[in-house]
Amino acid sequence: MSDVLVLGGGMVGVSTALALQAAGRTVILVDRREAGQETSYGNAGVIQTEAVEPYPLPLALGALLKIAFKRSNDVNYHLNALPSYLRPLWQYFRASLPARHRAISRTYAGLVRRASADHAPLIAAAGADNLIRRTGLRFVYRSQQAFYASAEEAGRVSNEYGVKVALQSAADLAIAEPYLKPGLAGAIHWPETWSCADPGGLTQAYARLFVSRGGSIVTADATTLCETDDGWSVTASDGRMSAREAVIALGPWSAGLLKRFGYDIPLLRKRGYHRHFTGGGTLNTPMVLAESATVLSPMQQGLRVLTGAELASFDAPPTPVQLKRSTIAAVNVIDLGTPVETKAWFGSRPCMPDMLPLVGKAPRHKGLWFHFGHGHQGFTLGPTTATMLAEEMITGKFPVPDLSPARLRYL
Ligand SMILES: Cc1cc2nc3c(=O)[nH]c(=O)nc-3n(C[C@H](O)[C@H](O)[C@H](O)COP(=O)(O)OP(=O)(O)OC[C@H]3O[C@@H](n4cnc5c(N)ncnc54)[C@H](O)[C@@H]3O)c2cc1C
Repeated sequence: MSDVLVLGGGMVGVSTALALQAAGRTVILVDRREAGQETSYGNAGVIQTEAVEPYPLPLALGALLKIAFKRSNDVNYHLNALPSYLRPLWQYFRASLPARHRAISRTYAGLVRRASADHAPLIAAAGADNLIRRTGLRFVYRSQQAFYASAEEAGRVSNEYGVKVALQSAADLAIAEPYLKPGLAGAIHWPETWSCADPGGLTQAYARLFVSRGGSIVTADATTLCETDDGWSVTASDGRMSAREAVIALGPWSAGLLKRFGYDIPLLRKRGYHRHFTGGGTLNTPMVLAESATVLSPMQQGLRVLTGAELASFDAPPTPVQLKRSTIAAVNVIDLGTPVETKAWFGSRPCMPDMLPLVGKAPRHKGLWFHFGHGHQGFTLGPTTATMLAEEMITGKFPVPDLSPARLRYL
């Protein structure tokens, strides 16, 4: 019998499998698809060591009204989805109040600040350095007023958390990114941030590393998970796969599976869309068009245009209204060329209402572990929280108690 079943082959699950393997455990990684095909494929690929403060719910009345009347591109919502989100939204609101958000940010900063150091040995061992850029992340502004206000805020973040930042004039920006159209006010450049030209590809490279080190990957449906006399098992096409312990790392699908075991996890699934464009201009470094909640990330497939958050039922059909607006915003700053896909991709950020991932022991089941809820930065944080989970599973001591699933009682 193996030691651990890791359910979910996204960045979080693959990193978990690698961390437990490095600690001497025999691990089976389980997914119904190949590794890195879902949320860990569709993201912006930014290893966000600058994102020290997780996104709070906007509390200013003006911002909330803009969202309510769908005047902001940051958030879209399906009215019929809101009743199921009332409890997590209320918890999200409480966690976003300034004092609590400050405390959460201290914990969060401790995670994201070490993220590239935790990715580095995996990138090297997986031979994936060709996918990584160490050129930072830019937030770009059209209006001087928005640029100055954000520059002040960036200065505060830089001082408080020791993150390097540089302000760039329109002329500096034009030199750094020659394909940009004129008319921009300037940019905030976070130079320490890394990014990846194929996030799904990096997740797959980590999965291959896990296999090359003796790990097994099995195709199976995680919903077949059941508790046995001596551990946990799932049904694969070639029989039952068993292990003494199981880790739930199913990203946005985690809460659905855990309902069957009696856990009511208030997971907010913030949907995002993307589409690639080729034949136009490109960028050397990913870029956030801050005023239109749009991210432009250069990928192997082309320039990926990504959106902010949408609250929708998990299985609701796509409504890419934000992507339409983001594409218009993108065309204003760069020639996009033509779309690669006929339809937009969409996937969901698995967000806990208190903006911290759930990492640790399941409160009511022996040998069951939670590892999900990484929200906007799961691609960044996978290897970091995987190391922490492995430490708790091996030693019984957990380095960051704030991430513990025991906190579900107090959300
Ligand atoms: C538009 C967008 C942009 C983003 N940009 C960034 C960014 O720049 N940087 C960053 O750090 N994060 C970013 N994120 C967030 C990041 O993508 C997620 O936090 C992260 O990918 C979550 O990883 P995961 O492994 O938990 O989930 P996933 O990658 O979704 O993995 C879950 C796995 O579980 C498997 N699975 C599900 N159900 C079953 C089942 N029944 N049986 C078997 N297997 C199952 C799936 O096939 C999948 O492989 C972004 C997200 C979005 C949507």
